Amino acid sequence: MDRRSLLRTSLAFGGLAGLGACATAPQVRGPVRNTTGLAIEDIPPSLAPIRAHPDRIFDVRTCIRPFRVKGPNLDTEQIGDALVVHNYGHGGSGWSLSWGSANVAVQKAMSVSPKRIAVIGCGIVGLTSAITAQRAGAQVTIYTREMFNRTRSVRANGSWTPDSRVCLAEQAGPKFGALWEQMARYSYKTYRYYMGLPGKPIDFSDQYRLSDTPIEQEHEELDPAKGTYGSTGKIQQNAEFGRYSDLIRDLTPRPEVLPEGSTPFPVKYAQRSETMFFNFGSYGHLLLSEFFGAGGKIEIREFHHPSELGALEEKVVINCPGYAAKDLWKDKYMIPVRGQTGWLIPQPEVKYGLYYGGVAMLSKSDGIMVMSLGRGPVKGDLAGVGDGYEVENRTEIEDAVRVIEGLYARMPTNPA
Ligand SMILES: Cc1cc2nc3c(=O)[nH]c(=O)nc-3n(C[C@H](O)[C@H](O)[C@H](O)COP(=O)(O)OP(=O)(O)OC[C@H]3O[C@@H](n4cnc5c(N)ncnc54)[C@H](O)[C@@H]3O)c2cc1C
Repeated sequence: MDRRSLLRTSLAFGGLAGLGACATAPQVRGPVRNTTGLAIEDIPPSLAPIRAHPDRIFDVRTCIRPFRVKGPNLDTEQIGDALVVHNYGHGGSGWSLSWGSANVAVQKAMSVSPKRIAVIGCGIVGLTSAITAQRAGAQVTIYTREMFNRTRSVRANGSWTPDSRVCLAEQAGPKFGALWEQMARYSYKTYRYYMGLPGKPIDFSDQYRLSDTPIEQEHEELDPAKGTYGSTGKIQQNAEFGRYSDLIRDLTPRPEVLPEGSTPFPVKYAQRSETMFFNFGSYGHLLLSEFFGAGGKIEIREFHHPSELGALEEKVVINCPGYAAKDLWKDKYMIPVRGQTGWLIPQPEVKYGLYYGGVAMLSKSDGIMVMSLGRGPVKGDLAGVGDGYEVENRTEIEDAVRVIEGLYARMPTNPA
């Protein structure tokens, strides 16, 4: 019997969805009887509501994604007598691709067998590069303007999004698909080792995509004259066309359509997927401990010109300045893509994320992340393109929270 047939023959088990409703905390109740045709294992569990109220916002963080139209720069160049290996420009995919990208950069760095390596930058790309270089046997010093917890990296959403704003497919060229796949697979495998640890540095969560109108496949073009994002643009791989995400389809489950009435949410259309995500606090702490435990050093220092790298004691340098490469290295392929996250007070009992009305929420250990994606005239991945205004806009986050507040207010079991 296939999974879908099982869905239909499992009606007799209807009612189990309501089991969690006897918990003491206020719960959004699932349907008492399952008349939806979902298999017993796919019936959404009872879901604790997110306390989505603007006065529960305790943090707003604004950031620029280091979007590079040709994809991340992993080239090498000689500055004085130093070999510089670049590792920047990961767009909206820096957390996701970090280990794989670090692996490529460190292999290039180790080609001259250095005993000591300098890493510029202590964001997620710099830190994973530094640890990867230590694992390859090098002594590493990180030179950085900011420590990890002040970098742009911790202003992200922090989910597994390896193809988000990672390049313009047409500009990155056909070979980039293979490199991207290599980086994504290597990273995904590495994250496996950080699961199941105290503080859940890496975790998985159900994501509900909810809509009052049919959910359609999005097609996002950055600019028809310039090309499409890697996430939606077509790539050429073995004479076949597809999306980058098609190359790693085996890694993650497909989104599942949930029939109307099968979720506690008051919407007609729903899909569920599962996503891996990064808890910045515990994961960052773990990475820094690992780096220092292996003898790594961090020096706070700001560079004003590439020539300063040639004057470092280390003669091999991995360069991870993120968006700052636009000015520091005069990289004309870098384009700012502004983004903003808001944070609601943590609710450990909420173990899911959702997307509704252009707003994404994800429950993480250090708060409930809120992002406004499709609100206003600019939708989805296109929001923020070309915008380098890195100043907080709390109103945008408050409006986003109100959208989800309105969703819960429509719930039939809402105690209010
Ligand atoms: C709103 C938003 C949501 C996002 N969501 C996700 C997501 O869900 N998943 C995902 O994978 N990615 C996501 N991203 C993208 C991700 O955050 C970035 O790709 C990633 O953080 C880039 O990391 P980085 O280490 O290259 O850069 P940064 O974090 O910017 O680090 C750069 C480092 O270089 C140092 N530096 C810079 N200039 C100098 C200088 N002149 N001298 C010395 N040091 C310098 C800085 O101090 C810093 O330490 C998101 C981004 C945004 C804005």
